[in-house]
Amino acid sequence: PAANSHAFPLLIKSLLAYSLVLEPEREIVYRDLVRYNYYTFNERVRRLSNVLGRLGLKGGETVAVMDYDSHRYLECYFAIPMTGNVLHTINWRLSPAQILYTINHAEDAVLIVHEEFLPLIEKFAGEMPTVRHIIVTTDGPATQTAHPDYESLLNAADTHYDFPDFDEDAVATTFYTTGTTGDPKGVYFTHRQLVLHTLSLAATFGFVDSASVRCRSNDVYMPLTPMFHVHAWGIPYLATLFSLKQVYIGKLSPPMVADLMKREKPTFSHCVPTILQMILHCPEAKEIDLSGWKVLIGGAALTKGLAKLALERGVDVNAGFGMSETCPVIAVGYLRVADANMDREAQLTARTRTGVPTIFTDLQVWNEAGKPVAPDDKESGEIVVRSPWLTQGYVKDPEKGAALWKNGYLHTGDVATIDGNHSLKISDRIKDVIKSGGEWISSISLESLIALHPGVAECAVVGLPHAKWGERPHALIVLHAEARVEHADLREHIQPFIEQGQLSKWAMPEEFVFVAAIPKTSVGKIDKKRIRAEWPQTISQ
Ligand code: ADP
Repeated sequence: PAANSHAFPLLIKSLLAYSLVLEPEREIVYRDLVRYNYYTFNERVRRLSNVLGRLGLKGGETVAVMDYDSHRYLECYFAIPMTGNVLHTINWRLSPAQILYTINHAEDAVLIVHEEFLPLIEKFAGEMPTVRHIIVTTDGPATQTAHPDYESLLNAADTHYDFPDFDEDAVATTFYTTGTTGDPKGVYFTHRQLVLHTLSLAATFGFVDSASVRCRSNDVYMPLTPMFHVHAWGIPYLATLFSLKQVYIGKLSPPMVADLMKREKPTFSHCVPTILQMILHCPEAKEIDLSGWKVLIGGAALTKGLAKLALERGVDVNAGFGMSETCPVIAVGYLRVADANMDREAQLTARTRTGVPTIFTDLQVWNEAGKPVAPDDKESGEIVVRSPWLTQGYVKDPEKGAALWKNGYLHTGDVATIDGNHSLKISDRIKDVIKSGGEWISSISLESLIALHPGVAECAVVGLPHAKWGERPHALIVLHAEARVEHADLREHIQPFIEQGQLSKWAMPEEFVFVAAIPKTSVGKIDKKRIRAEWPQTISQ
């Protein structure tokens, strides 16, 4: 029995229960295929919970999902943890060997798999000793496979389920980092952590008097982040709590997104920069009125070039910050209401800052001596953080966990400055900073300034070893289709930033290489580890 019998544990079930309080008639939409309201959603979560019970899951077991963003995925976000089991969101963009590794490392008991991924999973037969059941999801009628179909199982299940109370410190979710910095590592979050993260987002979005990107209860929510990636930044839990209309896009395709934008009129989305870039350039979205669409950018820096492009289309953007290890949101940017009318350039500066810590986040920037840097936006250091929702370590890997947590703070590996208003500006990842001739060059600042050239669609800067200077910056450039740009034009574009002191004098890239595409990670970020490793042999000119 609980020490305090009146204690009210912070459980995900409370987030779901409240979805029936405010606007339960609002709809959850999946592409052009499914729409239903919150009454049906709640009923389906109970049906799924009964399905899991009938499979013999006793709580404390892991159920993995490998699906595109969908209403079904949202059902899993609730039913799996609310039955006392652990939701493992599989990153289907990892290599097959890594996917198999994560299934076995997490000891998945059940896999819920979209039929497109089934051939891959079936290849793993005999290599997944903990998996007892596979359930298949389909977008059309159930196809004949050796495994039961999600929809048929739900239809046959009872709609009644009493969700139990249990310890709020029970693990609710787990997933693996994208492996840009080594083997995928498992992070994990408890019910209490997810509830507090959701409430912190609610406070940040609801109470900060901001003239930019906020999510409110009358917004139409359409995530553009894969739901396997840090549970879509935890925002589906927030959207459900306040019964927002939600729109799920399935497999990402810009024409499908454009079509859903026309028909469902989303007002709030979030994504990594490359996805916003892709949508702004997609021919199907060219004619759509995007004004008032609020987009929170995270996972990588929001460059001024992209922010400018977005603002010109009427899109309201700003950055936020987090990582898989931090649940993820620990800072969100905003534009002060008093600054709403400032000119475009000043707005770009404000909107592309990394953000201000969210409530309950003790975020500091430490110099190499482990002391807080001066809040002057000049001295830089590593972002370290404490808050109620950080992963306490890596699954079955105490050694890496010990490197993550030092002196009571989680060390992010990100380098930033901070100003007198607690606003952060990330300049780089520790691993990506370029050290040339004894000076530090921020690859993010250099990329951001290069991308201001009108002919440049995208660019990535990495440091490569140099006999004399230690390291030198090298730039990969993707040009706009019709652009005619030479290396000399790019040098001419960069030189004034050096003269004005915006860039160090060592920052002029050693070389520019024009490419058709820049290598990306499984979640669409620039893959600097790969660029460095493969330069220049496999980067086609
Ligand atoms: P991965 O480490 O594989 O990229 P994560 O999603 O955990 O996967 O990435 C978190 C990292 O993304 C952060 O440590 C940081 O380097 C970067 N990041 C997130 N938000 C921002 C931002 N607003 N500006 C710059 N970098 C960011």
